[in-house]
Amino acid sequence: MRWNTTFIPTLKEDPADAEVISHRLLVRAGMIRQVSRGIYDYLPLALKVIRKIENIVRQEMDRAGAQELLLPIASPAELWQESGRWEVYGKELFRFKDRHERDFCLGPTHEEVITDLVRRVVRSYREIPFNLYQIQIKFRDEVRPRFGLMRGREFIMKDAYSFHADMEDCRREYEKMFQTYKRIFTRCGLNFRPVEADTGAIGGTLSHEFQVLADSGEDALVSCNSCDYAANVMKGEIKAQRLSGRNLKESSPPLKKVATPGKKSVAEVAEFLSLPTAKFIKTLVYKVDQKELVAVLVRGDHEVNALKLKLALNCQEASLADEARVDETTHVVPGFLGPIGLGLRIVADQAIQGIRGAVTGANEENFHYLEVDQERDFTPSAFADLRMAMAGDPCPRCDHGALESYRGIEVGQIFYLGKKYSEAMGATYLDAEGREQPLEMGCYGIGITRLLAAAVEQNHDANGIIWPFSIAPFHVLLLPVQYKEKAIREVADSLYEELLKRGLEVLMDDRDERPGVKFKDADLIGIPLRITIGAKGLGKGCVEMRRRREGQTEEVPVGEAANKIHLFVTEALKV
Ligand code: ATP
Ligand code: MG
Repeated sequence: MRWNTTFIPTLKEDPADAEVISHRLLVRAGMIRQVSRGIYDYLPLALKVIRKIENIVRQEMDRAGAQELLLPIASPAELWQESGRWEVYGKELFRFKDRHERDFCLGPTHEEVITDLVRRVVRSYREIPFNLYQIQIKFRDEVRPRFGLMRGREFIMKDAYSFHADMEDCRREYEKMFQTYKRIFTRCGLNFRPVEADTGAIGGTLSHEFQVLADSGEDALVSCNSCDYAANVMKGEIKAQRLSGRNLKESSPPLKKVATPGKKSVAEVAEFLSLPTAKFIKTLVYKVDQKELVAVLVRGDHEVNALKLKLALNCQEASLADEARVDETTHVVPGFLGPIGLGLRIVADQAIQGIRGAVTGANEENFHYLEVDQERDFTPSAFADLRMAMAGDPCPRCDHGALESYRGIEVGQIFYLGKKYSEAMGATYLDAEGREQPLEMGCYGIGITRLLAAAVEQNHDANGIIWPFSIAPFHVLLLPVQYKEKAIREVADSLYEELLKRGLEVLMDDRDERPGVKFKDADLIGIPLRITIGAKGLGKGCVEMRRRREGQTEEVPVGEAANKIHLFVTEALKV
């Protein structure tokens, strides 16, 4: 491709609204432009990367025996009503009506559509198992679309669904997909980690996310420093604690009320009283299923995990109640709330059970209690694991490890769904004895466009993107310093033709721009190998070969350049 006739609108300045590096660089490199919040144009350079990622995904899915199909983006509401997700998906589902006032949605994921297809086709155990996948645009009206391609409202996903006679076979496929995902992300040149995950709106009982490690990641993760346990903090289990040798005979000192004027947060009160935050009982009020207010207790140094809370309360929705509502119901200024005498249902994290010598709000403005003894002073309706896992927690799987924390970008997730959709939608098969059985299902997603952004988060420097070879838009950038000069142009043109003949993907910067502009753009768009053809080098009969990642340069005689470049690219693509 010749730059003069391409559409690569690079920018010198960062876009004002870009919070993360991948968003900044993809816009500046002329790869994406925003059309509306979370909705982007993918320009030619981006589409080349997308196609490369898709091809790796296709090759590995095909190798694993899955087959590609293409389902419609628009699907009728009835299918979603059958599974119950027309309601559950809430505002994230893009809904519309056709001219006959019938409800439809734009697919955020395709369990319903594929289960409907399969139930109309499959009759007998002889027709299963199979695994079907598609690569398609998905729609989710996210509350907070942000970070460029990371969290869009329209994005490209690979989604796969497998159908089986029994759990064992479905688990076997899950394991196969696990290995397939490892191959895909390795081939894309990413530093990633599979972690145990919650199943969210998709449902099911077993799930792993594939997380690209990056500080800018939206997901908090923990992993054991001694065994291979790793989980999203939303899923991270807390090792059951044994109450540490509490002497039942020994009574606690009496409750003591102290003034804490204007000190509301745990951190403020802890500092004011010179006590560690672990001594505190934090009281948070949640609104459950739009109705009841429930007080949730966690230790002062812990955070509530809303997913675990929903499980414990067996509810659809639990969110922090707003201050006015709490005030109106409890007549206490939030910040001074505590479990003693609070007139609300209380659920407590397991770490609160049997706690002594603790500090809580006194349900009176500007006062806290000291010497709180849970067993003596208040009784929650339930204790459960309600908190987020964090660094330093003992590993829930091994005896001696401790958890470390880090951040990640979820690029893929696999789910063992079991019979969730097949039972709800009546997708069955006849077994060898002629009995009707619900199908077992798994589903497997990869965010193609998010993966592209994640690759940039992991592969860049101050000057721009550094594409991993396997997904780079071009292998080689030819940079004739002054293309107008005959001697330079002739070498550049013949090298260009020769490399194309050898099947390499080459971008030739034949623009009549200042060298500085060309070098800056070269670094920005991140082609892994740059060949500079200039008067100085040609004087010695050489061109300059520079690797974008290492920044290392090498002079190569003109006559050897094509061979050398070819060899280098072939080697780099093997990894
Ligand atoms: P998240 O927790 O980040 O919202 P999710 O768990 O809801 O994602 P899945 O239903 O597992 O997403 O979808 C499969 C994959 O699609 C995800 O692993 C992710 O890579 C990608 N994906 C999901 N939502 C978005 C989005 N809004 N923009 C871009 N990619 C997305
Ligand atoms: Mg997910």
